Amino acid sequence: MKRLCVYCGSNPGKSAEFLEAARELARHLVQREICLVYGGASVGIMGEIADTVLAGGGEVIGVIPQALVDKEVSHTGLTELKIVNSMHERKGIMADLSDGFIALPGGLGTLEEIFEVLTWAQLGFHHKPCALLNVKGYYDTLTQFLDHAVAEGFVASIHREMLLVEDDPHTLLEIMSTYSAPAVDKWIGRNET
Ligand code: AMP
Repeated sequence: MKRLCVYCGSNPGKSAEFLEAARELARHLVQREICLVYGGASVGIMGEIADTVLAGGGEVIGVIPQALVDKEVSHTGLTELKIVNSMHERKGIMADLSDGFIALPGGLGTLEEIFEVLTWAQLGFHHKPCALLNVKGYYDTLTQFLDHAVAEGFVASIHREMLLVEDDPHTLLEIMSTYSAPAVDKWIGRNET
């Protein structure tokens, strides 16, 4: 993996553990010489992970729509900042550049972003790993909900399993580096119970 996309909160969250987890993941990326691709903001967990990768001598590519340059206070010290015209362009570029996707804790934007790339994986549009870094059990109730969606017949278990979930960044990166996407078709799981 040469470049990984990390989706994460534009807020720091209430617990110091969230920011620490962002720093820890950043250090692992630097160690592995993996370039960080992210949303280009300098605020919240987004800013923290970018700052830590840069401080460690790593590379960071940010992608931000012009309309958010001021709102999210675009980061001025990145290896590269791509200013684009729309959110859709932002997400497409981030996805194309990256060899895999990780969501750290975040809000609605983070959820939307990781689920979008997961739905693309489910459709077989890409074969890259999609993962949650489950810091402090932040995503426990989300994964429970996904299990519920499988139980109720709306998500096939093969698609549910495509979302990797780990609480340790080293373990997560190991799993992602050997990930091989299952041969999926959105409709394979249709009749699964
Ligand atoms: P949040 O998780 O809501 O703090 O947002 C994290 C990042 O996701 C920010 O850079 C937001 O601009 C971005 N974001 C917010 N809404 C969306 C959306 N609908 N699609 C993609 N990204 C979004």
